[in-house]
Amino acid sequence: MIIKTATFVCSNTKVSALPPPKLPEYAFIGRSNVGKSSLINKLVNQHGLAKTSQRPGKTQLINHFLINEKWYIVDLPGYGYAKVSKTSREKWEKFIRNYLTKRESLQCVFVLIDGRLEPQKIDLEFCCWLGEWGLPFSLIFTKADKQSLTKTNQNVSLFKKALAEWFEEAPTTFITSADSGLGKDEVLNFIDHVNQD
Ligand code: GDP
Repeated sequence: MIIKTATFVCSNTKVSALPPPKLPEYAFIGRSNVGKSSLINKLVNQHGLAKTSQRPGKTQLINHFLINEKWYIVDLPGYGYAKVSKTSREKWEKFIRNYLTKRESLQCVFVLIDGRLEPQKIDLEFCCWLGEWGLPFSLIFTKADKQSLTKTNQNVSLFKKALAEWFEEAPTTFITSADSGLGKDEVLNFIDHVNQD
């Protein structure tokens, strides 16, 4: 897919204030610092669209970006930042769960995982929660340029093995680098296919 236009539409703290659910949307979520903003910027070839390296855990907003006037990238706040208070974490959880379970135009949740790490409980639990709600999700392993592909593949296998305890079918998986652009076309083609279904 060729990205012709990518524009910021709105930031929201309330699910009730989101744009009307008339276009397909794809949510991006992961632990703070996983490389979510960098990857979104790379996907749409726009350096500053999603803000990178904000103070982790600071922004609790749902950001909508309109792509090619046809679909939305939805940038969700990062999870798992140790320094946020319990109250703020609970608020985050309620807000995000509300969005994920109620948004009828949501086509797929891309769960971003740091490809350098062995499976983390918080990521596995989040995937399981998505599964329990029957929400379609794919995995994106980020920062592939930071280590050998062999090492990333090992972590991908470990993660899939851990998920196999809960899921009969393994989710679609991508390996990406916001630096080199690895995996970018694959993610965009996947979105293109879903949009055409
Ligand atoms: P976010 O908190 O998930 O939005 O993460 P950011 O996109 O702000 O990235 C966190 C840090 O990781 C920044 O310093 C980025 O430059 C760096 N980073 C993100 N993606 C990559 C990548 O694919 N390769 C490399 N080498 N660094 C990355």
